[in-house]
Amino acid sequence: MPDAPLTSRTATELLALQAAGAVTAAAIADAFLANIRDREPRVKAFLHVDEPAVRAQAAAVDARRARGEPLGALAGVPVAVKDVLCTKGVPTTCASKMLEHFVPPYDAHVVEKIKAADAVLIGKTNMDEFAMGSSTENSAYQTTRNPWDTTRIPGGSSGGSAAAVAACETPVSLGTDTGGSIRQPAALCGIVGVKPTYGRVSRYGLIAFASSLDQVGPFAHDVTDAALLMEVIAGHDPRDSTSVDTPVPAYTQTLNRPVAGLRIGVPAEFFDAGLDAEVEAAIRAALAVYEAHGATLVPVSLPHSAKHAVAVYYIVATAECSSNLARFDGMHYGHRTRTKADLIGTYAKSRGEGFGPEVQRRIMLGTYALSSGYKDAYYLKALKVRRVILDEFTAAFDKCDVIMGPTAPSAAFPIGEKTADPLAMYLSDIYTISCNLAGIAGLSLPCGFTAGGLPVGLQLLSPPFDEERMFRTARMYEAATAWHTRRPKF
Ligand code: GLN
Repeated sequence: MPDAPLTSRTATELLALQAAGAVTAAAIADAFLANIRDREPRVKAFLHVDEPAVRAQAAAVDARRARGEPLGALAGVPVAVKDVLCTKGVPTTCASKMLEHFVPPYDAHVVEKIKAADAVLIGKTNMDEFAMGSSTENSAYQTTRNPWDTTRIPGGSSGGSAAAVAACETPVSLGTDTGGSIRQPAALCGIVGVKPTYGRVSRYGLIAFASSLDQVGPFAHDVTDAALLMEVIAGHDPRDSTSVDTPVPAYTQTLNRPVAGLRIGVPAEFFDAGLDAEVEAAIRAALAVYEAHGATLVPVSLPHSAKHAVAVYYIVATAECSSNLARFDGMHYGHRTRTKADLIGTYAKSRGEGFGPEVQRRIMLGTYALSSGYKDAYYLKALKVRRVILDEFTAAFDKCDVIMGPTAPSAAFPIGEKTADPLAMYLSDIYTISCNLAGIAGLSLPCGFTAGGLPVGLQLLSPPFDEERMFRTARMYEAATAWHTRRPKF
């Protein structure tokens, strides 16, 4: 794309242009800020953009380059960050009234990493409150729009980070995925999104929703940029006790090496009655592309995952959130009511005012599932089924290198369509949730469009800590297709 505007470029291209002296970090920042000014009234992806601070970061990179100083892997590349990740001196709200005035005194591990790589933090993105949702409609502040059709949702909960990349308001961004919140919005916005293996990326400074499921991961226009960002954020951090001390491969170096003799597991359960026909056709066509490049399709079976993953997830995730969100009571943390009351009354009022309806619903469900008398029937039972789901994946990966299927059951749905029906909303994650329960890695990449012009995402699931092969597998498809080069019109 020789004449493409700067804002349509990938991070990798922006790095090359800077290295060649063709463009400055300041010019890149200005171009993306101009798009933000122009498009945000329609997209509403950002909760916070501080233009002078963005320009100052870019100018600092240019000054260091001019002095001949060594620069990091993301020098001068704008990165947008989901508002659930702590940013020192920059508001971090989790899209909740509860944290409306919270300005963290420290950076999350991943934010430290992107700063150390000389990236430019361009802003904080909108999300479902405390990352609970599949459409970004649960934000206390605004509803983000899908850049391909602004009457539709971008997916969620990291909908702001996905829409910001799709709308070319930033080349790359960070989101979090507890049950699909990176892969599902990536699919619905026509970009790449990665849920790393549990323990691959530190959760330090990520405001917890469900600690045993949460992972931070990248959004990008293509697999190369996603791999680049993963290389920067992955790795051991002693401040997160679940962070695994294992080397991070140089993903970008091996990316273009196709996987010889690739075996793709195709679970019949991923093509059930709930799957939209146009989505199914796009996924089948993508599998045929792999076959044409020498891959073999292997039938695999994930019956427990298909039948029970959503139920197990909504017990485990709500139980953990009821515990994690207990600290927001107006005394220890978060919004304090102005109404005069005794201690318990102050807790109740503060939480009632600070949390939105979906967060309150989850806290109540989780508290119930953990209460004495129900704990064995619900929570402990869910943990047992969770183990069975992991065993099922382990058995499937004996027969294949990667599992493929749809990321989401349908393309982006209209704003408001599912807000009155939480159960219908919960089913948006039917294909993504089991990956988090099993702690394995997942990726969504663009694999086509519906007749109505909405993107469709292909999901890849990989054994734990096998991201390197997952990126190579994704890149094989991308190298043979052009979906990832499309950008929405504004
Ligand atoms: N949509 C799922 C939920 O509402 C997943 C959210 C997430 O991954 N953060 O919990």
